[in-house]
This record gives sequence, C-alpha cells and structure tokens, in this order.
Amino acid sequence: MSDSAQPLPDGLTPGLYLVATPIGNLGDITLRAVDILSRCDGVACEDTRVTGKLLKHLGISKPLWRYDDHSEHRDRGRLVESMRTRAVALVSDAGTPMISDPGYRLVNDCRAEGIPVTSLPGACAAVVGLTLAGLPNDRFLFAGFLPAKDKARRETLEELGATDATLVFYETGPRLLKSLATLKEIMPEREIAVARELTKLHEECRRGLADGLMAYYDAHPPKGEIVLLVGPPEEHAPSDADADTMLREAMQTMKASQAAAKVSKATGLDRKTLYARAMEMKSE
Ligand code: SAM
Repeated sequence: MSDSAQPLPDGLTPGLYLVATPIGNLGDITLRAVDILSRCDGVACEDTRVTGKLLKHLGISKPLWRYDDHSEHRDRGRLVESMRTRAVALVSDAGTPMISDPGYRLVNDCRAEGIPVTSLPGACAAVVGLTLAGLPNDRFLFAGFLPAKDKARRETLEELGATDATLVFYETGPRLLKSLATLKEIMPEREIAVARELTKLHEECRRGLADGLMAYYDAHPPKGEIVLLVGPPEEHAPSDADADTMLREAMQTMKASQAAAKVSKATGLDRKTLYARAMEMKSE
C-alpha cells in the first residue's frame, strides 16, 4: 500500500483488493477475504449473479459492478479513478482473479496511476491440481486453456512438451478426450493427471498414460471442471558415447579427476567410474 492514501472511515485504505474465492467448497473462503468483502465500498466481478450468491452466503451486501478486461477503456478508467477514494474488491466467479480470469488490465492501470493494489491469496484450481497430482512440482508451467482448434492445440503441446517441467492446463469435460488424443500422439510416454471437481463432493484425481486415460474417459465421460497435468520428460542417463564426449571435451582444459567430477555433476553418473574411463581414454 502507498503511504499517501488516507484510510477510509472503516479503516480500509482506498485502492484495489484482489480477492480469491472458493473453487467449489465454500469453506475455502479465507477470513481475510470475508473481512475485505465486508468492509470494501463495492465489488467488481465477472458475473454479478455468481458473486451476489457468494456474498449472500456470507451475509454481505455490497454494490456489485460487472468487470471484464474487455470493458471499455473509459469504464476501466472510471473504475480506477474511483479507487482514489474507494476500496474496491475484484473477484472472479471462482478462484484467484487473473488466473485465466479477468483483472490484469485493471491491475496494470492501477499501477500506472499509482493506485494501491493488495492481493489476498486463496483457492486456485491450478495449485490444488498440482499439489494433488503427485507429479514432480519443483518446476511447473501453467499454460491456461489449450487452444480449441486441433492444429493450434497440437502446436502448443509440441512447443511446451520440450519444457523440463510439469505442464498445468485448465480443461473442460467436452474437450478432455481431444487433448488426451493429441497427448497420446506426441507424448505417449508421459505420466498425466486428470484432476476433476477439485474441493467438491466428487473430487477425483486420476493418473496414467494418455492411452489408458483415454480409454477410461471414453467409457466414463468426464463431468465438471478439470485441471490437466502432464509430467516432465524423463531424464535419460547419457549413453557411454555421450559421457566419453563430455569427458574428452572437459579434459581439454582440466585434469582427468576434475573432468570426472564435472561430468558426474552434470549427468549424475558415478564419479569414480568416470575417472577410470577418463584415465583409460588418456592412455588410448
Ligand atoms: N481463476 C480460477 C482459478 O484460480 O482456479 C480459474 C478460472 S478458469 C476460467 C476456470 C477453469 O479452472 C475451469 O475450466 C477448470 O479448468 C479450472 N477449475 C476451476 N475450478 C475447478 C475445480 N473445482 N476443479 C477442477 N478444475 C477447476
């Protein structure tokens, strides 16, 4: 928050508050979200009916303003201007604003105008899916929705498939089989997770290869909302020939023991074995 903004009578500083809301289980609303929604001057939202229901459930009554990033620039400008003296919450229909949802233009404009912005963390389907799937998650790449058209979907998957990370996509029931079919063609060996109806009564997380998952969902057409996760490419141990090449290169500038240590660090191969091979190569 900037130092210059004066707190409103209820103690809130004027500005924009990004408020995450539940993705299915109302119990996932945070205490802080309830506090800000109760004290703000109004709520900008994707769909006033959806947000109206949530606020009713929380016993909160506030003016609701429809917002999406395609709103006229003039309307957005007015909303931003109003935040000089008002505290405005931004929510999406479910989950974290801006994660495949509107808001980024609003935040960008607020930043440009020096309007304070605060983000309240909470539910996000991508994160729930990632934690539930049990796929490697030290690196992940969230890529939103895959393109609907076959060619564009294939190109996107081909491009992202080379990334050394778990890929996270938002998916819909009717399109899941098509995405799995493309994955089966271009990454048949990758471990995949279909995380469905997260935080809801019929939550499900099913793991497997594209082939098996296709067979399952062909027989059980998937209902509800889906996060599709694709595990990273398997690390392949370098072949003996590759290791020799790396050793030879390293030994041009360093001793055999140092070369073995370097190649071992890069490949995970045993340092002593590499050293023995380096000595052999030296004497050849
Ligand atoms: N901003 C939201 C968030 O933080 O998760 C995502 C909004 S995006 C328009 C909606 C997509 O999120 C759905 O099509 C689905 O892929 C995913 N999603 C939302 N809720 C979900 C849930 N309960 N289970 C699985 N996926 C969900």
